[in-house]
Amino acid sequence: RAKELGRNAFCFYQRNMDEDAAERLEVEAALRLALDRNELLLHYQPQVHIASNQLFGVEALVRWQHPQWGMVPPARFIPIAEESGLIDAVGSWVLDEACRQMAMWQEAGQAPPHVSVNLSARQFRHGSVPTMVADTLLRHGLPPSRLTLEITESLMMMRNDQTLEALHALDEMGVKLAVDDFGTGYSSLGYLKRFPVSELKLDQSFVRNLANDEEDRALASAVVRIGQSLKLTVVAEGVETAEQLAFLHEQGCDVAQGYHFARPLAPDAYVEWLRGRP
Ligand code: C2E
Ligand code: MG
Ligand code: MG
Ligand code: MG
Repeated sequence: RAKELGRNAFCFYQRNMDEDAAERLEVEAALRLALDRNELLLHYQPQVHIASNQLFGVEALVRWQHPQWGMVPPARFIPIAEESGLIDAVGSWVLDEACRQMAMWQEAGQAPPHVSVNLSARQFRHGSVPTMVADTLLRHGLPPSRLTLEITESLMMMRNDQTLEALHALDEMGVKLAVDDFGTGYSSLGYLKRFPVSELKLDQSFVRNLANDEEDRALASAVVRIGQSLKLTVVAEGVETAEQLAFLHEQGCDVAQGYHFARPLAPDAYVEWLRGRP
């Protein structure tokens, strides 16, 4: 598995390196305009408590509807946003839009318990993340407990005091922190003790082949036990089948997210999904 992941990561890197620089600049220029032209939007994917089937929260996932290119997936433009520095503007927009939508849903009695927003490590280069978050929550009158920020293992491996301070400031504010794609980064577990995280997201690469891969079952179950021992909520990503769900339930995993429950949904579709629930 490690070999396979390593090879994929390498191919991705090489493809990026070889990619026509002009094309990257084109995407960058278009993305700059996209913000002003309102071409970005958010979809929301439900997260469900496995034991009770209650809604746990939703994850906000950014989409780019380009007038010529159509729907551009985040994997295509987030890396370019990160390299060009546009991620600060994109990230602020995403947070603002997610909070605006939550406030509207709250008004209508349709709000999920919380919204999770992805943050890039790059956004922590400036010390301004906690201020940006506090201002955004205030602007929309949203309590901090309604917001979870998803960060990556790579951010926590940076061992930089400014990042640690920012994460503690967010924690003190009452915002929750989740480790996204857990298990795919450098596996020093020490940081789980140092950082004020409350949620682990088991990466979908461990969930995908649960039905026929003994090693994935062992790894998934180990991650769930790490989460339990540290009193963290474990959220499994990419849950597509009832069998995967049953195994995760058996292991004591708390929450599941994936096509088995719903794809990432446009706001209207989320409300419809909510209405259709027992
Ligand atoms: P992620 O945060 O790990 O998000 C989960 C990804 O898995 C999403 O892809 C989602 O659509 C997909 N997914 C959910 N359920 C299933 C399933 O059952 N099966 C399969 N095969 N896939 C599933 P998406 O929306 O394409 O996003 C990809 C990544 O882009 C995200 O991974 C996240 O790292 C990044 N991203 C998305 N939105 C933002 C954002 O606003 N800011 C930043 N910095 N990154 C973002
Ligand atoms: Mg995420
Ligand atoms: Mg993830
Ligand atoms: Mg993932």
